[in-house]
Order: sequence, then structure tokens, then C-alpha cells
Amino acid sequence: MAYVIKDACIGCGACAGACPVEAISEGDGIYVIDAEKCIGCGACAGVCPVGAPEEE
Ligand code: SF4
Ligand code: SF4
Repeated sequence: MAYVIKDACIGCGACAGACPVEAISEGDGIYVIDAEKCIGCGACAGVCPVGAPEEE
């Protein structure tokens, strides 16, 4: 199951560095997860200070 970054994202970039498959990139104001690459490990949610990544 892929994760999706919600609007709470403050653009800190911590999740991008934590993703094992490099599925996260900087988008327009918030970071974005490529659902095709995401393996649903939850690492991004674990490092996010605002809980923005959520399982869809
Ligand atoms: Fe990357 Fe895992 Fe987050 Fe998916 S759930 S975007 S694979 S860190
Ligand atoms: Fe946004 Fe959270 Fe990722 Fe930081 S760690 S860029 S706040 S989703």
C-alpha cells in the first residue's frame, strides 16, 4: 500500500532522505510520493515531524 503526503507537510525534506527506494521528491510547496515506487515501508511517516505521510 502506497503512502501519500498530506497538506500538513512543511517541506523539511526529512522523508526524502529516509525513503529506501527514493520515491519522494520535492513538489510545489510540499513533498510528493511516487506511488509507482513506494513500497509502503512507513519510514517517511516515522521521520516526519508533522505526521504528513499517511497510508492510503
Ligand atoms: Fe518511501 Fe517507505 Fe515512505 Fe513509501 S512508505 S514513500 S517506500 S519511505
Ligand atoms: Fe513534509 Fe514530513 Fe516529508 Fe518533512 S518529513 S518534507 S514535513 S512529509
